[in-house]
Amino acid sequence: MSKSPKMEKVLDDFAKNIFNRSRQDNCCITCGSTKVNPNDFVDDLLRKEFGISHMCQECQNDTFKEDLSNMTDEHDCESIIAPNGIDCYCRVCGNTLG
Ligand SMILES: [Zn+2]
Ligand SMILES: [Zn+2]
Repeated sequence: MSKSPKMEKVLDDFAKNIFNRSRQDNCCITCGSTKVNPNDFVDDLLRKEFGISHMCQECQNDTFKEDLSNMTDEHDCESIIAPNGIDCYCRVCGNTLG
């Protein structure tokens, strides 16, 4: 994820305004937890992500889950016929439909 200096400033101001502390602290800007331990992150990528977004593991998980559910949950399945001309599946989520 790349971010502009402007975005960095916005995040910094956001954190300062909401939690009255700098993003330099080991503190999650989403839930305000100050118990963020870099060792809690399951891998280096998420630890790096915390350096960027300052969201704890839990909040990163929630965000990720939301992204996933936005992609698959909130839609009416659109039935289309599979290339074999027999089966039906959803164009959006790919689930096989009865
Ligand atoms: Zn959090
Ligand atoms: Zn569907």
